[in-house]
Amino acid sequence: MRLCYACSKEPAEIFIDYSKRWLCINCFLNYYERKVKRTIEAYRMIKPNEKIGVAVSGGKDSTTLLYVLKKLYPSLNLTAIHLNLGVKEYSDHCNEVLRSFIKKLNVPLIEFNLIKQLGFSIHNFEKTRHGRKICSICGTIKRYLLNKIAYENKLDKLATGHNLDDIVEVIFNCYVQGDIVQLARVNPVLPGNHPKLVARIKPLCMMTEMENLLYASYAELPFRSLSCPLSKGNRSLKNKKFINAIILKEMPTFKHMLFKSYVKRIAPYINPPLEKIFECEICGMPTSKNICAFCRLTKIIKPLPQ
Ligand code: AMP
Ligand code: ZN
Repeated sequence: MRLCYACSKEPAEIFIDYSKRWLCINCFLNYYERKVKRTIEAYRMIKPNEKIGVAVSGGKDSTTLLYVLKKLYPSLNLTAIHLNLGVKEYSDHCNEVLRSFIKKLNVPLIEFNLIKQLGFSIHNFEKTRHGRKICSICGTIKRYLLNKIAYENKLDKLATGHNLDDIVEVIFNCYVQGDIVQLARVNPVLPGNHPKLVARIKPLCMMTEMENLLYASYAELPFRSLSCPLSKGNRSLKNKKFINAIILKEMPTFKHMLFKSYVKRIAPYINPPLEKIFECEICGMPTSKNICAFCRLTKIIKPLPQ
């Protein structure tokens, strides 16, 4: 029987591919929590007394994020924020899964329902000229609403469950496309450079998607079992499949190397574009144009409610 690398007592059940170590369940959970804590400290993500909004989708990553933040920092002022995007079957399923879990964690939850509060859902974009880029539209809507809710509720920071696979996929795509503007925005911490922009943090940026899945499963956290019906075949999924093939066949450390080399050797030499920030003529939220991306998008499906 193979014993755990860390405690040398329990049977090893989990293989960490990039460090080539076998761990038992308990030591894996400890290793995971310590690594998240180290990441939060290394990037100075959270200061004492800050109010942190946690964007929870019902998926394994953000559910784990909320649970681990509460476990590592029991006295931290946390508020969960969930957007019900109105995607048939999927959104209600996500909402149900996380509601009872958050109640048990004793964290306040702000729910925002697109259909009930704005009168449309992500499905309304399917038949527009944006139909083929629905994930990117959904991303714009989510970013805007999460920031607005965090700002209106006077939260100091907004934490999301983006994992290492998400971040590496964006870096990889930016390299392939030569998209230096987007690359400058890849950062575990994004300061809010306008009074109405809430700073964003990604405490799980060093954890792989598989580690999050293992943590959520072994810690018995509830998370969605359906995948979004609108996300099939999107760019990010294709890139992730490609990157995972490299990991499996050639180089288990590829994701960690790409992320570290970007943060240490590339990011310091890229200056974020110095865009002038205006306030949107329609909603008053920050934008680099006269009208923000959210208002431009929602105008094509229906006028914004007054
Ligand atoms: P995604 O854009 O789906 O890859 O999700 C990235 C992160 O955004 C998640 O880990 C969450 O923190 C946040 N997020 C995604 N969807 C939602 C949602 N419906 N409500 C609240 N937060 C979300
Ligand atoms: Zn606007």
